[in-house]
Amino acid sequence: MAATLPPDIGTPLADVETPALMLDLDAFERNLAHMARTAAAANIRLRPHAKSHKCAEIARRQMALGAVGVCCQKVSEAEALIDGGVTDVLVSNEVVDPPKLRRLAALAERATVAVCVDDERVVPLLPTPLDVLVEIDVGGNRCGIAPGEPALRLAERIANTPNLRFGGLHAYQGAAQHIRSPVDRANAAARAAHAAAHTADLLRAHGIPCNLITGGGSGTYQFDITSGVYTEIQPGSYIFMDADYARNESPPPFEHSLFVYTQVMSAPGHGYVVVDAGLKASAVDSGMPTVDGCPMVSYTRASDEHGVLTGGTFRLRDKLRLVPGHCDPTVNLYDYYVAIRDGRVEAIWPVDARGALT
Ligand SMILES: *Cc1c(COP(=O)(O)O)cnc(C)c1O
Repeated sequence: MAATLPPDIGTPLADVETPALMLDLDAFERNLAHMARTAAAANIRLRPHAKSHKCAEIARRQMALGAVGVCCQKVSEAEALIDGGVTDVLVSNEVVDPPKLRRLAALAERATVAVCVDDERVVPLLPTPLDVLVEIDVGGNRCGIAPGEPALRLAERIANTPNLRFGGLHAYQGAAQHIRSPVDRANAAARAAHAAAHTADLLRAHGIPCNLITGGGSGTYQFDITSGVYTEIQPGSYIFMDADYARNESPPPFEHSLFVYTQVMSAPGHGYVVVDAGLKASAVDSGMPTVDGCPMVSYTRASDEHGVLTGGTFRLRDKLRLVPGHCDPTVNLYDYYVAIRDGRVEAIWPVDARGALT
C-alpha cells in the first residue's frame, strides 16, 4: 500500500505535497519521440531498458512508439511489467538460481521472454523452451564471457541443447555510458562494437546465425546506431535525463523530465536553506541533485530526510524541482509518478516494479 496518498487529478503543482516524484509530461513525451524517431531512421530495433522507470504505463508507451519490447534487470521486474501488459521482455542479466529460472519459464508461457547467460554451467539449469542470449564482456568488466572463442563455445552449447534457442549476443558496455569526453566515449563504444562484430563473425563461420546484437545505452547509442554492428539498442535513462548524464560533455540530446519536487522547510539564515528531500528522496550514488533552472545553487549535503542548498535566495516554504543525480534508483524510492502538464496533475502512474530485487 502506498505510504502517501497520491494527489487528485487536476491538483495544481504548487499544492502537491513534497517530496514527490514529478514527471514533466511534455518533456518526457519529446524524449520518447526523439529516441523512437532516431532508432527508426537508423533502421535499428529499440528495446528501452525498463530498470530506469519500472512502470508498465511507460513501457507500453515506448512500445506504442515502435519499441520492440523492453529490457528488465530482474525476473520480478519482468513479472511486474508483464502483469501490466508488456508483451516482450529481455532479462538483460544473468539468472542462475533454479527457483528464479522456474519463474522465468512461467513468464515465457504468457509473453516473449529472453535471458542472458555468461557461463556454461548455467545451461543445464535453463528451462525449455527459452530464448537465450550470450552476454559478452565488451569492456565494462561486469558480467559477460570473454568475446571470441569462449563466447563461441557457449553459443554452441546453447544451440546444441534441445528447445533452447540461441538468440544472439548481448554486448552492453555499461562503463562507457558516462565517460565524460565524447572522444573517449566513442572509442570505448567502438571497442565494444568491434568485440561484438568479431564474435558474431566467428559464430557465423561455425554455422551459428547471429542476427541479434543488442547493447548500447543513453550515453553511447549515437555511436552504436552507426556502428554497423548493433541491431538493437537498449537505452534507459534517455526518457528522464538525470543530472549525471547532463555532466557528460556533449550530453545526449534529451531534456530533464524527472524531478524530485521539494520544499524549503528550514531557512535558518546562515547562507543556506534546507529542503525536505534527502537521500531517501533522491539517490546520491552518482552525485548530488541539481536545482532545476538555478545553476548557481548547489545541493551540498544530503542526509536521510534533509538536503542543504547554498547559493540561492529561497525562502521558507518555497517549492522547487531537483534534478536527481541518478534517475533509476531515485524512481525506486517512490510508489508513483506525479505526471504534470500545464502546471497540474494529469495522471498518477504507479512504479509497478518498485523494489523488485529478485
Ligand atoms: C542500465 C542498462 C541499460 C540502459 O542504460 P542507460 O544508461 O540508463 O541508458 C541498458 N542495458 C543494460 C544491460 C543496462 O544494465
